Amino acid sequence: MQERSFKDVKISDYDAVVVGSGFAGSVVARELAERKDARVLILEKRSHIAGNMYDEFDDADILIHRYGPHIFHTNDKRAFDYINRFTEWRYYEHEVLADLHGTYMPVPFNKNSMEIVFGKEEAAARIEKLIATFGDERKVTINELRSNNDAELAEIADFVYDNVFLYYTQKQWGVTPEEVDPSVTARVPVFVSRDNRYFQDTYQGMPEAGYTPLFENMLDHPNIDICLEVDAESVFELEFEENGENAPLESIDIKGVSFTSPIIYTGPLDELFLSRFGRLPYRSLDFKYETYDCDYAYPCGTVNFTVSEDYTRITEFKHLTGQICDGTTIMKEYSHAYEDPKTQIPYYAIINEKNQAHYEKYLQLTRNLDNFYLIGRLAEYRYYNMDQIISRALDLSDKLCSS
Ligand code: FAD
Ligand code: UDP
Repeated sequence: MQERSFKDVKISDYDAVVVGSGFAGSVVARELAERKDARVLILEKRSHIAGNMYDEFDDADILIHRYGPHIFHTNDKRAFDYINRFTEWRYYEHEVLADLHGTYMPVPFNKNSMEIVFGKEEAAARIEKLIATFGDERKVTINELRSNNDAELAEIADFVYDNVFLYYTQKQWGVTPEEVDPSVTARVPVFVSRDNRYFQDTYQGMPEAGYTPLFENMLDHPNIDICLEVDAESVFELEFEENGENAPLESIDIKGVSFTSPIIYTGPLDELFLSRFGRLPYRSLDFKYETYDCDYAYPCGTVNFTVSEDYTRITEFKHLTGQICDGTTIMKEYSHAYEDPKTQIPYYAIINEKNQAHYEKYLQLTRNLDNFYLIGRLAEYRYYNMDQIISRALDLSDKLCSS
């Protein structure tokens, strides 16, 4: 990978342009470079590669994540095998505790949480009831649990709803759990189990040296050039088939030349069109870091504050990375509406029918441009984990490499 200044770039030297260097953009760039011998230009608006997976050492020399805690987990062997090429792995299985006014309880809420909350004896009867109703080792969504009419189950459901989901969801999304798409809270079920892990996937872990070196290795190919701090919106000239706000895109000019080879776009779709139909709603985050003069400040990788505080969760990176050093850095996450593209980052699409219809309006504008490919959590306006993005990027690469 060579870093290039955009002003020196000759666009006719490239067989593909990729916008964004997160997993979506980087996997496609690597695949095209390697399998098709294509010369690929990546445009990245941040000052570094790796998208939201970017990690670096802070002033206390502690490896931290700059855009939220990232733990790799998947059942998708192809996605796992693929990134195995670019990193060694550290064995790590993420555990999360909820802080209930100072008492820690495993999340997802499970048999162990039940004993902490209700005491062993009372918990035993409730666990039996859960097993009889849903089966042992079963995952039950909070919605499924709440819709059951049994009085004893209703008590568990109310407890979990009030103490795990309600306040956390209000902080994270600005609305109650009933108002978010059911797929969102379903990510964190009630688990009729003693398994305290946050994820049960077959493959889990952290890149041994961190995510940024993983991306450096992935992009280390002589056919890949990258321009950092270049916003595609400012260098793409969009040509439309006719006048009017619904006119479809006809071509994209870069440096005055119509670029007819593949353009892979992984940024927010509305921003490409200068939000002409209004901005797509997202949630953004602020991160506050604190460094302490002790080995560990918390008992596990993440503590969720489900009934108190104005931040949602605290992540202590040393648990994730296994770094052995003096001191520890923690990060608090504060969620809010995404309002200013100049100063904020869109982290979470807000999944619902209205927003999907809004997104479709933008999608329609791209329907006639057959060298334009949208992929990624932002470009597709979806709530994807890393492995899903890697898988989708490999599918798109197969398609592009076979044409
Ligand atoms: P991104 O990583 O967002 O990359 C997009 C890139 O495009 C960025 O570098 C951006 O700067 C660039 N870009 C955007 N617009 C433009 C433009 N106009 N011009 C140039 N460049 C542009 N997934 C997991 O599997 N496990 C986790 O533990 C996990 N934790 C997460 C925690 C948080 C707080 C968040 C927000 C997400 C988490 N995820 C996790 C999801 C993970 O971040 C995404 O799946 C992944 O980042 C998607 O990759 P991407 O390439 O689509 O997007
Ligand atoms: N959630 C919650 N309490 C928790 C954990 C999760 O209410 O202790 C809900 C909340 O709505 C959250 C969603 O479940 O946004 C998904 O949680 P997850 O940990 O998967 O979120 P992410 O890591 O993607 O931010």
